[in-house]
Amino acid sequence: MKNIYAIGVGLIGGSLAIDIKKHNPDAIIHGISRKDATLEKALELGLIDKKATLDDLGNADLVIVSIPVDATVKLLPTILDKISDTGLVVDAGSTKEAICKVVENHPKRRNFLAMHPIAGTEHSGPTAAIEGLFIGKTNIVCEVEKTTFKLQEKALKLFTDIGMRIRYMNPKDHDKHIAYVSHLSHISSFMLGKTVIDKERNERDIFDMAGSGFASTVRLAKSSPEMWTPIFNQNKDNVVETLEEYINNLTHFKELMKSDNFDEIFNEMQNTNRIKDILNGIV
Ligand code: NAP
Repeated sequence: MKNIYAIGVGLIGGSLAIDIKKHNPDAIIHGISRKDATLEKALELGLIDKKATLDDLGNADLVIVSIPVDATVKLLPTILDKISDTGLVVDAGSTKEAICKVVENHPKRRNFLAMHPIAGTEHSGPTAAIEGLFIGKTNIVCEVEKTTFKLQEKALKLFTDIGMRIRYMNPKDHDKHIAYVSHLSHISSFMLGKTVIDKERNERDIFDMAGSGFASTVRLAKSSPEMWTPIFNQNKDNVVETLEEYINNLTHFKELMKSDNFDEIFNEMQNTNRIKDILNGIV
């Protein structure tokens, strides 16, 4: 694999570039982004070897698309138009249905592999890129049968080289399940942060009392709105459904508090402690 193009050189694109370069030292990593300043930063940090544009994609062996999911939907058909018959295009978007749909009838659909690496942090941009981000993490691959076998093999080698395990799922199921385990957690964190910030306007001392529990629960509220707004937009129906269930649970908890039903509150928390065993299996 000689010419690798990273479209988007932020947290995910930059981290993939670092790890892939480590396993393919002879490859040239070409970076493409909206803003020149972002590419300059990526060059300075050594995430990419060269700056490039979409017009250069003709010699690409691999194109990794790691930009916000609305931009991916807009750009992906053009990217596929520009690559050669042997080029492989993968995307890292956090939603999969809209992305798979936009290329379903594209003449080069078989050159594309849809994936979602379940790895990340709350930071964004080239400075957030880190080595080893994907070790031991799951990569969800969708509609694998729509990619040519040879390119599937190439992609799977690439992901296993950088330490990922692969799970296969259809895009609809991916978007439904990810709404619970990722999208809802982000909304919950954003709204917890908002609730406390709103309160802090009146009571400046509140943050002096905030401990590590607060910091870890609002960590995701530092995430980029530019990345998350299009995710919520594309996965609106699933996210609204998860929110309804979450709000019902919050309302139920409030009612138990109001009616002094602390035995039931104890039970609710004890039942939810099961999360320890579940998390032990995945982190
Ligand atoms: P990020 O750190 O914000 O990087 C995204 C980069 O995309 C930005 O640096 C931005 O660069 C560039 N960009 C934005 N619009 C563009 C466009 N129209 N054309 C070209 N470049 C554009 O975001 P990220 O966390 O790496 O996320 C990238 C993708 O991975 C998203 O689809 C996200 O859903 C997915 N993902 C994220 C995570 C996570 O935890 N963060 C995990 C798995 C998957 P400019 O400065 O040039 O605009």
